[in-house]
Amino acid sequence: MNLNFEPKQVFYEPEALNYPLGKKLVDYFRQIKIPVKATSSHNRITGLSGDTAAKTYFEAKKTLVIGVKRGKTFQTCKPSAHYQLPLTTSCPGMCEYCYLATTLGARPYIRIYVNINELLEKAQTLIQERLPEITYFEGAAVSDPIPMEHYTGSLRKSIEFFGRQPQGRFRFVTKFTDVDSLLNLEHHGHTRFRFSLNCEEIIRNYEHGTPSAENRIKAAGKVLRAGYPLGFIIAPIIRFENWMDQYEKLFADLAEQLKAASPANFSPAALTFEFITHRFSSRAKSNILNIYPQTSLPMDEASRKFKFGQFGYGKYVYPPVEMEEIKTSFLAFMNRHFPGAKAKYFI
Ligand code: SF4
Repeated sequence: MNLNFEPKQVFYEPEALNYPLGKKLVDYFRQIKIPVKATSSHNRITGLSGDTAAKTYFEAKKTLVIGVKRGKTFQTCKPSAHYQLPLTTSCPGMCEYCYLATTLGARPYIRIYVNINELLEKAQTLIQERLPEITYFEGAAVSDPIPMEHYTGSLRKSIEFFGRQPQGRFRFVTKFTDVDSLLNLEHHGHTRFRFSLNCEEIIRNYEHGTPSAENRIKAAGKVLRAGYPLGFIIAPIIRFENWMDQYEKLFADLAEQLKAASPANFSPAALTFEFITHRFSSRAKSNILNIYPQTSLPMDEASRKFKFGQFGYGKYVYPPVEMEEIKTSFLAFMNRHFPGAKAKYFI
């Protein structure tokens, strides 16, 4: 499957043409005959066709918006970093449970920001403000940035920028595998690459338009050989028939393939893991059902516990006994297959 994204239509903010990347991309899409139109704001795209929520959603996933990211500062980004680094918004993947289906609403068109140099200058200021502490930036808070990298080169620039920052660190997470352009950069160990993983069965059923676990693990092996700090996010953890066996198999496969790919000095203790159990809000459930009416995602409120979240709305999480069983199992899998690795958090 060729996962290199090509949009069906492109919008651009006129101001984006003042930046070399914006001009280059608009010229390029015109040249390859993809419809290109101006828009007054990257936050307001009107006229996406589609007579149902699902059709509009899929149309938006094929729409690229070239914009300029404004604002004095960056949003905060707990628990993985101090700030978001906004390189892109949304992604061409179509994971049924994607949190962006809730936060971006029914039109998750893909936005790229061409003022990357200004964004990195802003990051520099934020790093200065927190000295002598180290400041962490997350490059995937509202997107998967890898699928747009072949157009923007923004990850490459960011990784090299953070490579030069004694007190600045960068991290991002991806489900995608086009990492070759990032392997030979001067990262100086200041960027942590994380791959989002799940069992093949979950990927097959719910993560449409994304690479297999096997290919993600292969890409992780390349990243490891390139000397980057590496981590994995296992999310969303879903209880299904045989879930324990399937997830342990995922850890076993990961350990075996990373061992084969790793440099001689590799220690599993250098890896990080983040664990996120499946949860849903009422709004997310209704959005998902609008887009995927036949979904088999487990979203029965009666079998979950309702929990208020930090943003003022509640989510349905696994009940405490099941949650504890998941936590104990995943920590055991990690310790068994990656002795000494760090669990950053479990939610
Ligand atoms: S890859 Fe990530 S950002 Fe893209 S649709 Fe899937 S969950 Fe959402």
